[in-house]
Amino acid sequence: MTSFTFEALPGRVVFGVNAVEHLPREIDQLGARRALVLSTPQQETLARDVASRLGARSAGVYPHAAMHVPVEVADTAIGEAARLGVDCVVAAGGGSTIGLGKAIALRSGLPILAIPTTYAGSEMTPIYGLTEGGLKRTGRDPRVLPKAVIYDPALTLELAATMSVTSAFNAIAHAAEALYAQNGNPITAMMAEEGIRAMAQGIERVVSKPRDEQGRSDCLYGAWLCGAVLGTSSMALHHKLCHVLGGSWNLPHAETHTVILPHAIAFNQAAAPDAMRRIARALNATSAAEGLFGLVKRLGAPLSLAEIGMKRGDLDRAASLVMTQPYYNPRPVTQEGVRALLEDAFLGRAPLG
Ligand code: NAD
Repeated sequence: MTSFTFEALPGRVVFGVNAVEHLPREIDQLGARRALVLSTPQQETLARDVASRLGARSAGVYPHAAMHVPVEVADTAIGEAARLGVDCVVAAGGGSTIGLGKAIALRSGLPILAIPTTYAGSEMTPIYGLTEGGLKRTGRDPRVLPKAVIYDPALTLELAATMSVTSAFNAIAHAAEALYAQNGNPITAMMAEEGIRAMAQGIERVVSKPRDEQGRSDCLYGAWLCGAVLGTSSMALHHKLCHVLGGSWNLPHAETHTVILPHAIAFNQAAAPDAMRRIARALNATSAAEGLFGLVKRLGAPLSLAEIGMKRGDLDRAASLVMTQPYYNPRPVTQEGVRALLEDAFLGRAPLG
């Protein structure tokens, strides 16, 4: 075995159908007495339900979380937390709501208790993002890592099937790249493989039966593992491609991950054989790229960049942009290689691998 460094991130997890019932106990466990409950406007009903479970431990609800954490929203929420004299925040929702909790924690040091309702995995990472003047700034800070996470599959039964699928692929992408990360290690690899297995198994059940508790539990367990590996691993070509396509052409984030992943994995197939064996095994497939492409197809998710708004005339520029800053990837990245990958992804062609 090669030498490695592994640093576990602290955090308490309570998992299970109806686990939200343990919320008051978990707030006590944090040593907190007055919580501000955060949500998006769309999930205000959930936030009010969470607040009512907290009774006297709830100081109020702030239902204004928005995509990519606009700095104005964060500033208002921080002001509200100070005005109410809260000593913790409860973030009930997806990555946007948890992201708002992180912005508050970054400035105030308040602890976060997260109740995730998508598979984004932000609750397991010390990564935060804030958007100002249209620019998203990201960073890492241990203060933003939630102190406790309640995973309750019952709260995810209403997550639309299309969003469940793209959210699942986004999570699988984190685990797949963690398997060949520069700072990879056997513990992370074990979690990543299990995360891919659980997520792939769960999402097939969820698509055929969205209110299936077993399928939802598998997905949320997979989300936990995939988020945890994102929290400790560096990413590679796949994430660079998605960042460029999302940032410069405004392609939808999770859908872009879904289209690109089988192609990025095919690109790295020969250079990272152990990672590929693990991905293929997790998917019960003969090859990693084939297994991922087959899963996208079976789930009816987008297969091509053309379908999600990319123009063929922009592929050359995208390939150039990917080459502008060097970064780690198991296979050396060339402009021709990236251009060929983008061509396959644009057309939705089955990747060779
Ligand atoms: P989201 O939080 O933006 O949610 C999308 C919509 O779905 C919102 O209206 C939300 O209220 C609604 N929703 C969420 N869960 C639901 C449920 N169970 N039932 C019904 N509606 C529900 O989406 P997301 O994909 O979870 O998060 C995306 C954001 O998270 C992005 O900004 C991304 O950058 C960030 N993110 C950050 C990290 C990190 O480590 N910092 C990791 C992953 C994602």
